[in-house]
Amino acid sequence: MQINKHYDDLEQSYLFSTIARKVNEYSAAHPDADIIRLGIGDVTRPLVPAVIDALHAAVEDQAKQETFHGYGDEQGYGFLHEALVGYYKTHGVTLDTNEIFISDGAKSDLGNILDIFGTDNTVLIPDPVYPVYVDTNVMAGRKVVFMDATAENGFLPLPDASIKADIIYICSPNNPTGAAYDRAGLKAWVDYANAQNAVILYDAAYECFIEDENLPHSIYEIEGAKTCAIEFCSFSKMAGFTGTRCGWTVVPQALLDGKLNKMWLRRQTTKFNGVPYIVQKGAAACFTEEGMKQIHETLGYYKQNAKVLAETLDSLGIWYTGGKSSPYLWLKCPNGMGSWEFFDYLLENANVVGTPGAGFGKNGDGFFRLTAFGDQQRTLEAAERLKKLLSK
Ligand code: PLP
Repeated sequence: MQINKHYDDLEQSYLFSTIARKVNEYSAAHPDADIIRLGIGDVTRPLVPAVIDALHAAVEDQAKQETFHGYGDEQGYGFLHEALVGYYKTHGVTLDTNEIFISDGAKSDLGNILDIFGTDNTVLIPDPVYPVYVDTNVMAGRKVVFMDATAENGFLPLPDASIKADIIYICSPNNPTGAAYDRAGLKAWVDYANAQNAVILYDAAYECFIEDENLPHSIYEIEGAKTCAIEFCSFSKMAGFTGTRCGWTVVPQALLDGKLNKMWLRRQTTKFNGVPYIVQKGAAACFTEEGMKQIHETLGYYKQNAKVLAETLDSLGIWYTGGKSSPYLWLKCPNGMGSWEFFDYLLENANVVGTPGAGFGKNGDGFFRLTAFGDQQRTLEAAERLKKLLSK
């Protein structure tokens, strides 16, 4: 027996365990401290009534002989494909139902998609980044090249024609930086990928936070994207499905003349047995008129938090990205502090917890992530504490 030795090449991630340890130690030493956590990337609001009703109805379906569902198609039910085709139309994108694959969330598919690509490919990944892209490639022994996302390029690096890459990761709006590409930026990536015969793995998990009409929700809004991009998206942040689990992946028929679509179908039908009928029914309810209205109310709740935090940083003159079309605010630590130094400073002096940027890559040092997924009152309270502490 031989193990996959590439697992030894993975960097240990101490980010969230170190945060937890530091907060626990501080709480133990200061039992009366009222700590506000703005570090989490998870949603906190419940599923909306339209989704809950659909879930209940689907449970009832499973209770009756006539409406019971056993195994479904691995790639998802037609009703959810149709609903997603309609959703993409609202962004001016035309898809065929057979280009959409329903998943149990974006994370699984972002990792699993690598099954259909050779291990000799060179992978281009921005730094800082959502760690899943790097780790899934390291596990398979692929060569990873990093592109620098920095304050100078607004954390939105553009392609460098002198760098050869086969697989390119783009996340927009980005986790952790909150930065989002406009059409011109994405067009540059699409042209680069088409010229290099590369594939873009486009993570649109936060597209529902986009408010600015100039920012594309889907990479397929860009001409030429269907010949070079696979898009991953999710109900997690859009509709609070982080614990319910549903997402989707689009593999256009125009990619390699349908070859990649066929390969992904084959991969899914071989290794995956589909998302539960009940969950897919809940997901489809997001696209009804009532469901859309309700999920936008919840998104509005988080967006209000983002606005409060953005206004706070504005008033303090602190540089940041995100906050407007994203639930994340990525700020430059004041007074030249490092990420962890600022973490300790905030914890000890304001009892506010965020996420040190250094945990997302070398370019993250000196930066700090706050999230808008918290409770509204607590976010307001945190904003007041930040103002008091940092305006000194
Ligand atoms: N992509 C990004 C950029 C994320 O931040 C996350 C979750 O935080 C995911 C994907 C995973 O989403 P899902 O819950 O659909 O697996």
